[in-house]
Amino acid sequence: MTACPPAVFGAIRHDWSRAEVEGLLALPLLDLLLQAQRVHREHHAANTVQMSTLLSIKTGACPEDCAYCPQSVRYETGLEREALMEVAAVRERAQRAKAAGATRFCMGAAYRSPKAKELEVIAAMVREVRALGMETCATLGMLTPAQALELKAAGLDYYNHNLDTSEEFYGEIITTRTYQDRLDTLAAVRAADLKVCCGGILGMGESPADRAELLRTLANLPEHPESVPINQLVQVAGTPLAGSASLDPFEFVRAIAVARLLMPRSHVRLSAGRETMSDEMQALCFMAGANSIFYGEKLLTTGNPDVERDRRLFERLGLKTEEGPADIAAQISPAVDDERPCARAGYHAETAP
Ligand code: SF4
Repeated sequence: MTACPPAVFGAIRHDWSRAEVEGLLALPLLDLLLQAQRVHREHHAANTVQMSTLLSIKTGACPEDCAYCPQSVRYETGLEREALMEVAAVRERAQRAKAAGATRFCMGAAYRSPKAKELEVIAAMVREVRALGMETCATLGMLTPAQALELKAAGLDYYNHNLDTSEEFYGEIITTRTYQDRLDTLAAVRAADLKVCCGGILGMGESPADRAELLRTLANLPEHPESVPINQLVQVAGTPLAGSASLDPFEFVRAIAVARLLMPRSHVRLSAGRETMSDEMQALCFMAGANSIFYGEKLLTTGNPDVERDRRLFERLGLKTEEGPADIAAQISPAVDDERPCARAGYHAETAP
């Protein structure tokens, strides 16, 4: 294990070496958690979690072959395809999310990259959601610099585009686009002055070195992503990764803690896979510096037990939300009674594209 001098903790750096990141991942767990929580409190309010809401505006039939994703047209997962939504319908959903306490509205579409006509419609959606006074985020696949500028001009605040894993392991997961394609999209998004949401997925059969390399690549981007979603693989029947060996939960917690140490100012988001984590594991992730959770539209579904579970967990841990009244019930009230199959699939734009 590489010894880490105390100075390493909390520094804003973009020059991490693989050995340094592996050294952090290999620290005794309790030392790692302690350091991560210290750094967390230097940069963020304690016991406070940011909430993100997501709507799938176009579902399934994606030509890409991401091995974890039920939205790929190549895998039989039973997912119902849905065409690009109407602008008015998206506006109405955003209004309802706002009434339920959301301040940021994410729109996800299963595209390799949006076509000009589609982007026009999505830009109109962004303008409508912006007009409601909400922050906007989109995840639409690869973007050219011109497309990123078009979205910026429409009022988009954030763009999500994940690296998924290390460059070395990437070819095992996706063959229809390259790692460099992803980095190019991220560069186009930054050049358009959009905020970046970028993270990865753990538990896809990657090695510890791959996890270190993913985290190192994220931290060594010219600017740290404002949001870093760390997903745990949700194994969906019909996808190539169904049946993969499960990741040791402590390895996941370590990755969260190291993300916090490497990117002290970023929001580290517990994303896909949270539903299957125990309350105790989620608590460890918050201790490790996670300060954002993602709840899709399914969590805005009437009577969904996940809503009650989150409310109860926040109460038990003494957590409050970043957005406003310190009331988890207000933030995730069951105000929307829609439960589309795409939402139930577990994967959404937090892991895609
Ligand atoms: S992750 Fe995105 S790009 Fe990959 S198959 Fe799913 S929707 Fe398509």
